[in-house]
Amino acid sequence: MKYPILLTALFAGSFFMANAQTAKPEDTETWTPIPKVVTPGKTCGDAPSDAIILFDGKNLDEWVQNNDKSPAKWDVHDGILTVNKNYGNIETKRTFTNYQLHIEWRVPADIEGSGQGRGNSGIFLASLGKGDAGYELQVLDSYNNKTYVNGMAGSLYKQAIPLANPGKKPGEWQTYDVVWTAPAFNEDGSVKTPAKATVFFNGVVVENGFELFGPTLYIGKPVYQKHGASPIKLQAHGDKSKPLSFRNIWIREI
Ligand code: MG
Repeated sequence: MKYPILLTALFAGSFFMANAQTAKPEDTETWTPIPKVVTPGKTCGDAPSDAIILFDGKNLDEWVQNNDKSPAKWDVHDGILTVNKNYGNIETKRTFTNYQLHIEWRVPADIEGSGQGRGNSGIFLASLGKGDAGYELQVLDSYNNKTYVNGMAGSLYKQAIPLANPGKKPGEWQTYDVVWTAPAFNEDGSVKTPAKATVFFNGVVVENGFELFGPTLYIGKPVYQKHGASPIKLQAHGDKSKPLSFRNIWIREI
């Protein structure tokens, strides 16, 4: 029985040799579409050449109040933007679908309070209307400040616990870099693909392609509802602690 096995082996060997001769490296090379050339910023926080600048320290031209779409009334001073809790949330004039977002935030050095009442704000990666409707990436002082882990800085509020806590002390600037993929819906309103978020917090990955269960809810379980392109919204949280500040906000559509 050894002879037929040898013949089979010889036949198989010649087949693979013939196949290797026909297959070429070019067969598996992809040449188009050519990715756009983009000049990166000098440091990782600087906006690259194709970014839309949402806040550069000068004005709130890209923003409106969330409740009535009037000009945004938060405080711009010394190149930074500070939450004004008297006026509520603000949101971008523009709407977005899939994007890369950079935003920097700072909890006041003399922050008081505890848990969710200590430097609370938030970035609604897609606003779905007034108030806190949307998908919230939590902003909170998470430096020695105990709270539920799916509500700390870097969490997708009440849905995804951050993979690490790279939070800095109050008074220091912190960064979020977010890759957001909006949910897609079928004609009948059912979910085709859920929303997905990757988040770097101070350069550390804290959410890795997390698929959201739906828009953020304070109480209850999230449920998707069909929507299109949405503004990005910043939260004026109702807690009594001193308001946070933001700076250097830019976005690249994907
Ligand atoms: Mg919040």
